[in-house]
Amino acid sequence: MKSFTYERVTSLQQAVNGAADNPGARFIAGGTNLLDLMKLEIEAPQHLIDVNGLALDKITATEDGGLRIGAMVRNTDLAAVPLVRRDYAVLSKALLAGASGQLRNKATTAGNLLQRTRCPYFYDTHQPCNKRRPGAGCPAIGGASRQHAIIGISDACIASHPSDMAVAMRVLGAKVETLNADGQVRTIDIADLYSAPGDTPHIENILGAAELITAVTLPKPVGGKHIYYKVRDRASYAFALVSVAAIVLPDQTGQLALGGVAYKPWRSEEDEAYLPDGAKAVAAHLLADANPTTQNAFKIKLAERTIGLALSSASS
Ligand code: SF4
Repeated sequence: MKSFTYERVTSLQQAVNGAADNPGARFIAGGTNLLDLMKLEIEAPQHLIDVNGLALDKITATEDGGLRIGAMVRNTDLAAVPLVRRDYAVLSKALLAGASGQLRNKATTAGNLLQRTRCPYFYDTHQPCNKRRPGAGCPAIGGASRQHAIIGISDACIASHPSDMAVAMRVLGAKVETLNADGQVRTIDIADLYSAPGDTPHIENILGAAELITAVTLPKPVGGKHIYYKVRDRASYAFALVSVAAIVLPDQTGQLALGGVAYKPWRSEEDEAYLPDGAKAVAAHLLADANPTTQNAFKIKLAERTIGLALSSASS
C-alpha cells in the first residue's frame, strides 16, 4: 500500500473542504471496498478523509411521508429498521442479500452506492483494464465474462455494478443528496447517478471530486408486495448474476429493476407498463438492446425467468 495522509473530520464543511484542498483525496467510511482497492494499489489516494465522525447516521421521516437515510447508516442497521422492513421491504431484502454480516455491519449507505465493480480483471493488476488504466484495453471482452453486463455496455468496458441495495433504491425511486465545497446542496435521482462506460469507463458517476453524499431519500411508500430475488453462483457472499427488485400491486402493475446486468441498476418506467402481460413481455422490452457476450447471453433468459418468479410469488 502506498503512503497517504489521513484526517478525521467533525463537520460536513471540513470534509468537503478537505477534498477540495487535496486533489485525489477520497472519503472513507466503512472502507469495505476502498481499503481492498488501496492494498492492491488500484486506488492510491494521497489523502483520506474519514467521515465516520459526522452525524449522518440517522433515519428520519420526511415531510412528504417518505424516509431520509443518512449516508453513514450501516447496511445492517438499515435492513433491520421495522419501518423499512414494513414499508420498504424490498430494500431490507436486498441489503440482506448482499455481502456478509460482518461487511454489512461496516458498510454504509453511501459507500454501498459507490462501490466499484468486481470485474476480476479490474482487480488483477497484471491485466490491462480500461477502467483502471484508460486506453489499456478490456480483456473481459472476449475473455471470461460470465459475471459481466449485457446492456448499457461499450467497446471499452462491460463491467456490471455489484450493489444489491442500489437495485432496491432504484425501484423505490430514491434520490441522493450531496454537498460540495461551495456549500451547494444537490439532489440527484438515483437513475442519473451512474455514468455509462462509453469511452471513459473510469468515470463511474456524476459526482464532483469534492462532492459528498449526505443522505438518500425515499418517497412515500406505495404498498404492494416487495420482492428481491438474487441469482448467484453460490448461496451467500457472492455477487448477482441477475437480481430482480420488484414492487407488485394487486392489479399486477408495479415497479421493477434488474441488477447484475448493467453498469447501474436497470429500470425502465416505460416498460413497466408491460408488467401485467407477464415476465416475457417485460424482459423483452427491458432488455431489447442487450448485447451479451457468448459467455453471459444466458442472463437474458435468466432475467426473464427471475422476473417470472417475482411476479408469480407476488400473486400467490
Ligand atoms: Fe476493466 Fe471494464 Fe474490461 Fe472489466 S469490463 S476489464 S472493469 S474495462
